[in-house]
Amino acid sequence: MGPPNPTPATPSRLILCVIDAMAPAALERAVADGLAPTLGTLIERGRYVDSCVAAFPSVTPVCAASITTGVGPDRHGVPGMNWYDRSQGRYVEYGSSLRASQRFGIAAQLTDTVYNLNGAHLSPATLTAFEALDDAGIATACTTYLIYRGRHRHEPRRDGWLTRLAAPFARHPVMGPRELFYADIFASRPAPCSSVLGMPGIRDRHSGCVGAYLVEHNLADFLLLSLPDNDWYSHKHGPDAQVHSLAKADLQLARLAEVAGGVEALLERYAVIVLGDHAQARVTDAVDILGALVEVGVAGPREDPEGAAIAVCPSQRAAMVYVLDVPDPAAVRARVIEIARATEGVELVAWFEGDRDRRTGEGVVCLPDGSQLRFAPGGPLSDLRGCSWNLDGDLSVLGIEVSDQVLHAPRYPDALSRLWSALTCANAGEVLMSAAPGYEFYDWGGQAHPGGGSHGALDAEDSLTGLIMCGIDPPTPEPGQWAIRDVAHMVTEHFGVTLPDLR
Ligand SMILES: [Zn+2]
Repeated sequence: MGPPNPTPATPSRLILCVIDAMAPAALERAVADGLAPTLGTLIERGRYVDSCVAAFPSVTPVCAASITTGVGPDRHGVPGMNWYDRSQGRYVEYGSSLRASQRFGIAAQLTDTVYNLNGAHLSPATLTAFEALDDAGIATACTTYLIYRGRHRHEPRRDGWLTRLAAPFARHPVMGPRELFYADIFASRPAPCSSVLGMPGIRDRHSGCVGAYLVEHNLADFLLLSLPDNDWYSHKHGPDAQVHSLAKADLQLARLAEVAGGVEALLERYAVIVLGDHAQARVTDAVDILGALVEVGVAGPREDPEGAAIAVCPSQRAAMVYVLDVPDPAAVRARVIEIARATEGVELVAWFEGDRDRRTGEGVVCLPDGSQLRFAPGGPLSDLRGCSWNLDGDLSVLGIEVSDQVLHAPRYPDALSRLWSALTCANAGEVLMSAAPGYEFYDWGGQAHPGGGSHGALDAEDSLTGLIMCGIDPPTPEPGQWAIRDVAHMVTEHFGVTLPDLR
C-alpha cells in the first residue's frame, strides 16, 4: 500500500451549474446562514470569485451565449432580450414577459426562443462549448437552457399530453449536445422528469431531476445544469430575497450529490463550476422609452415597418434603438440620442461612429448632461483584463480611474470591452442605453418590476455575479477581472480542447 496522496486527482468530468441572476451578496448570506450547504461546501473546497462580470446588455440571452461560447455579442451575435432583425424586418422577442410575448405572438416568441436563437441568431461561425466537446467525442449534456447548440440531432418528443400541447410550436429537430432535456419538448432518453410546461418557480426541479438522472446513470462527461428560478424570484421580490431562491437552487444541486453518494463522492467524479449569468439590482421606477420615442416613428410589433423610422427594443435595464431605412439616418440617430438624454431614468447613451462591419471607428458614451467619452481598442492604456484602449474625452462619464496606465471603472466593470462588443454586434441597434439606478425600461407588454429587481444595465450591481470553481484549476495568470466569457474556455480546456480566443 502506497502513502496517501495529499492532492486528489483532478476529476475527469465536469458540471457547469448556471444559477440565473445569482447575486454575490445573497449567495454569501445564504451560505453564512446555512441555507445553501452544497454551495457552501463547493466554496470551501474550491475557489470563490465575488465579481465575475456579465456581458452587456446584462440579460440572460446575451449572457447565456457568452457563457457557452466564451465571446461577447460582437462575436456570438445575440444582442438583447428583444431586438430587431433587419434582414427580416421584424422584432425578435425571447420572452421579456408574458404580455410582451403576446404582443409579438406566443408562437413567434417560442419559435424564436426554442429554434431561431440557436439555429439562426447565434452566429454559426462561433463554436459553442458543446460543439467543441462533441467534436472531441466528449459525452455532453444539457438541461433546459437558452443556448444548447451541439452536434447531435434531437427530434421533438411525441409522447405525453404536455408535449402534444407544445406540438404546434415544436415540430422540428434541433442540434444539441449528446443528451438534451429541454422543457417537455426534447428528451434524449425517457428520464422520469416532467417540466410541467416550464412554469416559473418549478423549472429548477426539472433540471435537478434530469441532472440527478444523468449523474446516477453516468451519462455525461460535461453537464450544463441550468437553474433559472432564482431570476424569476428575484425579479418579483428583489435581489435581497434571493437568499430563499438560492436555498432552493442548492436543494437541486444536492439531488445530484445525493445520487452520487454525497458531495464528497460527487466531487471525486466531477469538477464543478457554479456561476450566475448576471446579478440583479433593485427597481423602484420604470421608464416608458417607447412613449418617449413615439414622435420619431416607432415600428410596431407584427406590423410592416414601412413608414417607421426606428425600432425600439427594451431589454429590462438596457434598451436599443435601430434606425430603419430612412432618407437621413444620421439626423434620426441624433434625434434619438437627444430624446434618450432627456428621458428620466436613462443614465448612459452609447453609439458607434465609423464602419461597424469592419469594426473601425470609435465608440461614444454620453451622460444626460452631454459629457462624452470616445474609445477604441489599441491605445496606450490597458484595462484589468489586459485589453488596450485609446480614450478621448471625459473619463468621469464611466467613472474611470487610471493608475500606471491601467484603467479601472469600479462602477461599470469591464465597461469598455463590454460596450465595444455590444456596439459592434451586427445585430445590435444604433443607439444603446443603460438605465440609472432604480430604473427599468417597460417592455413591449408594458411590464417592469418596480418593488422587485431587474438587470440589463452596465452597472456593477446588475453585472457582477459569483463564480465558484471546485476541482478545476483557474487559468494562469488569472484574469485581473473575471468575466463570464472566461468559463467556456475553462470548460473546454478541462477536456484538453481549445476554443479560439476572441475574448
Ligand atoms: Zn431576469
